[in-house]
Amino acid sequence: MKVPLLDLKRQYHSIKDEIDQAVNEVLENTRFILGPQVKEFEENVAKYCGDGYAVGVASGTDALLLSLRACGVEPGDEVIIPPFTFFATAGVITRLGAKPVFVDIDLLTYNLLPDKIEEKITERTKAIMPVHLFGQCADMDPIMEVAKKHNLKVVEDAAQAIGSKYKGRRAGTIGDLGCFSFFPSKNLGGAGDGGMVITDDEKLADLVRKLRVHGATQKYFHPMVGYNSRLDTLQAAILNVKLKYLDEWSSKRREKAEVYNRAFANTDIVTPKEEEFNYHIYHQYTISVKNRDKLKEHLLENQIGCSIYYPLSLHLQECYRYLGYKKGDFPNSEIRSEEVISIPVFPELTEEEQEFVIEKIKDFIKD
Ligand SMILES: *Cc1c(COP(=O)(O)O)cnc(C)c1O
Repeated sequence: MKVPLLDLKRQYHSIKDEIDQAVNEVLENTRFILGPQVKEFEENVAKYCGDGYAVGVASGTDALLLSLRACGVEPGDEVIIPPFTFFATAGVITRLGAKPVFVDIDLLTYNLLPDKIEEKITERTKAIMPVHLFGQCADMDPIMEVAKKHNLKVVEDAAQAIGSKYKGRRAGTIGDLGCFSFFPSKNLGGAGDGGMVITDDEKLADLVRKLRVHGATQKYFHPMVGYNSRLDTLQAAILNVKLKYLDEWSSKRREKAEVYNRAFANTDIVTPKEEEFNYHIYHQYTISVKNRDKLKEHLLENQIGCSIYYPLSLHLQECYRYLGYKKGDFPNSEIRSEEVISIPVFPELTEEEQEFVIEKIKDFIKD
């Protein structure tokens, strides 16, 4: 049996008529840039998250970039992030001429350790950007508390976490701004790049709305320099269809995660820990094992899709050598970069396929 890590075709075929119709409508009305579907999708996402404002942008990366700009991050400023995340979290900080400052992660949730933040705050610190890795929210209350105490902005990198909840609140709605990615493989994925910024603050929303159109308040009048970063109408039309199914897909992911949790209980496999106050949406089901690379080989030999998110902690990346970090600086992040592996958990994964994945992993840990 061949089991993919993710199969987007199955999802498309389950809602093909609706998607095709939505795409055709855009092709017919030809309002490709900021057409009515973008506004409609923004309103739907805002409502889905519990109100506020939503601004569609060109990618999750741009959502982070424009959010930091809206927070006033300037060259020389510092932004606190975990080193165990997708590169974009750090890349956007550097692109603004600011400096990523790392704080280690919790070994079991893979998210930022709130207790370690305060010691990293300096006069140049402007913002904290927690990442809700693999679909589970970081522990936001203590993060918001330390941010408030030091007058810092909080931008949630919720690229992997749309629909997840922290103490009943949707990911992205707790910090000053929240950022989503609609990269095709994300839980809510488009047919290309796309992203969104959400916020309760009307002024910040307006600022992001300007930044996405070259900083213009009114066409051809520019009080500031912005970007060309819009969510395509085509993407918005597709995502509008998919948003209706997101909660159903998330609960299917959770069911599958539960099956894995039970199967791997009382083994050497470290399964993801869901905090009791969280609602994890399992963008990835990520386990930790000592002989990870061998397990990966074993799974690939058995035609089981798997992937390593992420194999090198950001403080050890070549491009950040100038920051002066060394091996050992963020031990939890380094340990996990050597041990993690993500296995299939997409909503359309069949019972038979999942049983096969479990069987092959159990075979491996037996010998
Ligand atoms: C996917 C992702 C991003 C970037 O999103 P894009 O839409 O690919 O630009 C940023 N942060 C994290 C944690 C991500 O997983």
